[in-house]
Amino acid sequence: MRLFDLTGKVAIVTGGNRGIGLGMARGLAEAGATVVVAARDAEQGAAAVAELRSLGAEAGFVPVDVTSQASVDAMVAAAVDTHGGVHVLVNNAGIAIRKAPQEYTLDEWRQVMDTNLTSAFLCSQAVYPHLKAVGGGKIINIGSMLSVFGGTFSAPYSASKGGLVQLTKSLATSWGRDNIQVNAVLPGWIDTDLTRATRAQFPGFDERITDRTPMGRWGRIDDLAGVAVFLASDASDFVTGASIAVDGGYSVQA
Ligand code: NDP
Repeated sequence: MRLFDLTGKVAIVTGGNRGIGLGMARGLAEAGATVVVAARDAEQGAAAVAELRSLGAEAGFVPVDVTSQASVDAMVAAAVDTHGGVHVLVNNAGIAIRKAPQEYTLDEWRQVMDTNLTSAFLCSQAVYPHLKAVGGGKIINIGSMLSVFGGTFSAPYSASKGGLVQLTKSLATSWGRDNIQVNAVLPGWIDTDLTRATRAQFPGFDERITDRTPMGRWGRIDDLAGVAVFLASDASDFVTGASIAVDGGYSVQA
């Protein structure tokens, strides 16, 4: 369908080499986009690119550390040089460090904030002139249920993800007249390396999530493909500043 067709669009997905980023990258690739997979681990990056190419898409890997402004600028420059422009940015790279608030070091706090929140600001700033140059574009920020709820063992993570929602709203209001739509996706509990670590750390956690989720299961990375295509495509041209939960109903369950 034309509304969801991404043929001719170039999409950068940070953290696109595995997990939720790869799930979204698959959706974008299947809708016709050229996907730039951007992350640190080049081996996983190459595997992701091979998979996306097997879907018939153009794809490439660009190494990036999203906590470094120079690295982010180089990522965007490489995408533009190789593919002629950028139309979509998915700010997906993220980490979690789990402990009680009183136990974090300042370095740990900064590591989480830099990776999850400051990175999205830096990447958005870096792509802005390129989105403008092609007449507009799409920025998709990956929040979390912890954009909304508090987390006992995730003070900096929750702060970063709450901040992402506010950053989304501010960029949406600033750049609306440039025809740039900025939205957030708030995934529920998705089976990835990130949450496998949490399940290993907290016995019973796995079952608690399944019980509390109306859909009665954990999310899969492919559950995020559809929303990525919607928010990257013309289908969402009048949707901006929104936060869309993709959570199997987790956030509406009392
Ligand atoms: P993974 O741990 O599987 O993936 C994290 C991704 O982020 C990897 O691709 C990793 O690549 C990349 N990344 C981390 N640090 C950096 C960095 N400094 N520079 C560049 N890339 C980086 O986790 P998920 O797929 O689960 O998480 C993806 C996003 O979704 C995160 O923002 C997370 O907070 C969010 N999320 C996840 C949920 C879940 O249930 N899984 C729920 C809600 C939100 P590499 O290490 O190669 O750099």
